[in-house]
Amino acid sequence: KTRNGHEPEFIQAVQEVADTVIPYIAQHEIYNGKNILLRMVEPERLLSFRVAWVDDDGEIHVNRGYRIQMNSAIGPYKGGLRFHPTVNASILKFLAFEQVFKNSLTTLPMGGGKGGSDFDPKGKSDDEVMRFCHAFMTELCRHIGPNTDVPAGDIGVGSREIGFLFGMYKKLRNEFTGVLTGKGLSWGGSKIRPEATGYGTVYFAQNMLETRKDSMEGKDVVISGSGNVAQFAAEKVLQLGGKVLTLSDSGGYIHDADGIDEEKLAWVMDLKNNRRGRISEYVEQYPSATYHEGKTPWEVKCTVALPCATQNELDGDDAKALIANGCVCVAEGANMPSTPEAIHAFHDAQILFAPGKASNAGGVATSGLEMSQNSLRISWTREEVDQRLKAIMSDIHDSCIEYGMEGEDYCNYVKGANIAGFVKVADAMLAQGVI
Ligand code: NDP
Repeated sequence: KTRNGHEPEFIQAVQEVADTVIPYIAQHEIYNGKNILLRMVEPERLLSFRVAWVDDDGEIHVNRGYRIQMNSAIGPYKGGLRFHPTVNASILKFLAFEQVFKNSLTTLPMGGGKGGSDFDPKGKSDDEVMRFCHAFMTELCRHIGPNTDVPAGDIGVGSREIGFLFGMYKKLRNEFTGVLTGKGLSWGGSKIRPEATGYGTVYFAQNMLETRKDSMEGKDVVISGSGNVAQFAAEKVLQLGGKVLTLSDSGGYIHDADGIDEEKLAWVMDLKNNRRGRISEYVEQYPSATYHEGKTPWEVKCTVALPCATQNELDGDDAKALIANGCVCVAEGANMPSTPEAIHAFHDAQILFAPGKASNAGGVATSGLEMSQNSLRISWTREEVDQRLKAIMSDIHDSCIEYGMEGEDYCNYVKGANIAGFVKVADAMLAQGVI
């Protein structure tokens, strides 16, 4: 805390892990006296660099670029790039730290990293986004590579940005390699990668519901966000027979009591991915729905809640409202969307609660599958990737159960995910010595 006291999000993420892992370390002699957690919280490397670019009017802008190479004990650094005005070292360190545990849970050989910039793609032309991405990659390319560090997308970084980033990497290095994931299908991307985080979150929620002999069928589901993760979480909920009641963005949420069906979801995808509009426009298209400006959707009655927008978007009061309204299952599609108070409330009520590092790991897992396909220079079918994704989510669920049971009936998925993720990385670090 002395060294990182000015980084609240990072402290929050570390505290959550420490609360569950420190008692485990105390009970297992091989980890005693090795300062293993102290070593894990310090990034192996933290890069910060200037990104200068020129807008359409000829004005020069300067943003700050970052790459946090957090832990490479079990594989090359792997984790997304976030472009959002709120990006800073604290947020990226929390995301990189979470990523280490998440990647370990996937069972694939990937270390943890994260990066991005305080650049805001909103309101920028395609040409401006391209110039920014190219400028960002002129520096980042020195630090990444298919066997070193393989970035992907995150908030504000989708297929358009990955394309521009990949193009510049390829030009500068004169090599066509799997250095980024989330690529287009015709140039090295994996089928199901765009869908993977959202689909995986819902597969995980389904696994949790099955422990109570229940399923997604017929459930009222509240989803936040309307970006990549939220869109495909909604799609999978519909495929499994659930009803999606809400979506949101940073302006507010829309509530459609009739349900957001496949046709309405296709309209939202076009709005967000092609026209880059606001979720408030939904009520102009579908007037029976309502828009709630400046609010999050947790006040809407539901059985399943999937927070898929951003960190700390669901606080203690929101959690109490969800529980009071009969919610029995919360699976995080976003990273750390629930505050510590919210997590306590979920645990006190003994409802099913999955932390993002377990339930949203399907995205990075499928990125791992993209890396394998790139190395082998082959392309698996949609069905094959989806089957592997489903199996990985089920394995992660099993790991949580293995380490997280409290008594006969209740699984603390936070504890389970943290310890299962920790063990694999800690064992590799012990084997590799003090470096
Ligand atoms: P997108 O940029 O596609 O979408 C983000 C969504 O969240 C948008 O609807 C955005 O609204 C909303 N949002 C962003 N910031 C805020 C904020 N401060 N307050 C309220 N709403 C906000 O990103 P993704 O869908 O890719 O990512 C969403 C979450 O999922 C993030 O936490 C990310 O780290 C996590 N995640 C993503 C993975 C992936 O594969 N993409 C993998 C694992 C986790 P607006 O348009 O108004 O900004």
